[in-house]
Amino acid sequence: MPDALSSETIYLNIVQVYFEDDAFQHLNKLIQSKRHNNTNWTCYSCKNNLDTDDSVECDKCLFWNHWACVELTEAPLNDWFCPKCKLENNN
Ligand SMILES: [Zn+2]
Ligand SMILES: [Zn+2]
Repeated sequence: MPDALSSETIYLNIVQVYFEDDAFQHLNKLIQSKRHNNTNWTCYSCKNNLDTDDSVECDKCLFWNHWACVELTEAPLNDWFCPKCKLENNN
């Protein structure tokens, strides 16, 4: 499997039509585990590994942050933007 697949979720939607549901779920799991094995998969705020705690992905820059690092206590219901992107949006 090409490495690009694990970083570009957009490809997933494109290739999904070529897979049976079961096969696609399997591919998804493969990609998830590949991501979690990636040592560069770290919190944008504290630079520690994301596996240590719940984390959230910024819908703008697509960087991940621990909930605690961005003062979240539960999963956001809507699009979530990191402090950096929020600042940029306000400008
Ligand atoms: Zn963190
Ligand atoms: Zn961001």
